[in-house]
Amino acid sequence: MANDILKSLLREYEQKKINAELNLEERKKNMYSLFPRLLEIDTELSSLGINSAKAILNNPENSSEYYKKLNIKISKLKDEKKNILLKNGYPADFFTPVYECNNCKDTGYVVDNNFNTSMCSCLKQKLLDISFNKSIMYGLKKENFDNFNENYFSDEVDLSKYKFNISPRKNILNIKNQCINFIKNFDNLESKNLLFTGATGLR
Ligand SMILES: [Zn+2]
Repeated sequence: MANDILKSLLREYEQKKINAELNLEERKKNMYSLFPRLLEIDTELSSLGINSAKAILNNPENSSEYYKKLNIKISKLKDEKKNILLKNGYPADFFTPVYECNNCKDTGYVVDNNFNTSMCSCLKQKLLDISFNKSIMYGLKKENFDNFNENYFSDEVDLSKYKFNISPRKNILNIKNQCINFIKNFDNLESKNLLFTGATGLR
């Protein structure tokens, strides 16, 4: 059961992540048509990445020198891209996906400095919310007016014992009716709130 909940939450997370990435693609497309230089830069950046991987594989000895040159080229291109964005009133990180949770980038998990993976606080909170709601719903299945039994309350009127001039049973039936009326008139702005008071631990 708990596993099913986690699985369906992770499916939701996957969808959120995909949506964030699709949204980025859409924004990119718009930006490329507005500023064609951005498309040139991005194309160059991705081809540099592919070429560098090939070069390192083919010639591992010279890779460090090659890397240095490559990094300079890449950071120049990235700077140019950032400048285009800023100059035109866009944030410098406009070309990154907007995730609901930046900690886990909508994956539900985070990796620490020692490469240990743990559940992100956003996913933990969602699981807690679900189990909390479930426990309330479970309580409602057992504890509702259909199972109400006034016979637990005495039918005896005893002012000195119960401090009421009606029996506890009559009293609880009055309370029950008031609760039902409260529910029926829940949407009525004129209706008043209910306040339950009593010693700690009573319900
Ligand atoms: Zn998260």
